[in-house]
Amino acid sequence: MLKGKTALVTGSTSGIGLGIAKALAAQGANIVMNGFGDVDSPKAVIEALGVQVAYHGADMSKPAEIEAMMKFAAEQFGRVDVLVNNAGIQHVARIENFPPERWDAIIAINMSSAFHATRAALPAMQAAGWGRIINVASVHGLVASAEKSAYVTAKHGVVGLTKVTALENATTGVTCNAICPGWVLTPLVQKQVDAKAAALGLSNDEAKKLLLGEKEPSLQFTTPEELGALAVFFCSPAGNNVRGVAWNMDGGWAAQ
Ligand code: NAD
Repeated sequence: MLKGKTALVTGSTSGIGLGIAKALAAQGANIVMNGFGDVDSPKAVIEALGVQVAYHGADMSKPAEIEAMMKFAAEQFGRVDVLVNNAGIQHVARIENFPPERWDAIIAINMSSAFHATRAALPAMQAAGWGRIINVASVHGLVASAEKSAYVTAKHGVVGLTKVTALENATTGVTCNAICPGWVLTPLVQKQVDAKAAALGLSNDEAKKLLLGEKEPSLQFTTPEELGALAVFFCSPAGNNVRGVAWNMDGGWAAQ
């Protein structure tokens, strides 16, 4: 379905971004990867799907590096047809204890980076008459939890940006939608499991059950594969008129 198209997925060396990159590659899209940590093994996993893969190590907190990454992608593959704004970090603390530099980093990486990448990606999508922008927000783009002020603010912002991007392109073939996962067992969440286990003297399994039980009625983690399938749907012809939605895949979290 995406043969000949190019998808750039920020934060695709790990977790949800890697899951979405794999799902888009399985549909034939060439992939521009981004993110920190080990690049070779996730890159090899995507290449094994028979597509071309390039990597750019832009720090998504830095607008100039984002611009350089978007230029690099266009040079490598002609243009970016599918942009997945996924890179993100977390920090958990009450507002009065929240380090201001963590606030700035979360707002920059989880929210402003989506604006910078979208701004750079739109002209070529508009000229081509087709494009897909998928913002990985969170159920925290729809509802709040205590001790996540920066994250909840950034994710609500991403949902707002998604709606504006969708509206400004509503008469074109360019759509923009957000994916709002509940708990997904990635390194980002494992850190929160570890913190709970340490604070309460629980095993890893007990801490996971507690985390799920507090918020997610299904008591199941959403998987990167399920989120990848939703991204593929947004890219499919059936997604042509899906515009500006914030689609939660959260085991019933936001339904409560
Ligand atoms: P993860 O830690 O597994 O992956 C995060 C990715 O972002 C990694 O590739 C990392 O290298 C990259 N990254 C971090 N800082 C970066 C920076 N400054 N520049 C470039 N890349 C950077 O986490 P994940 O759980 O897969 O999270 C991916 C997205 O999904 C995030 O936006 C997160 O907020 C969102 N999300 C996660 C969950 C969850 O339960 N895991 C739930 C809802 C939303």
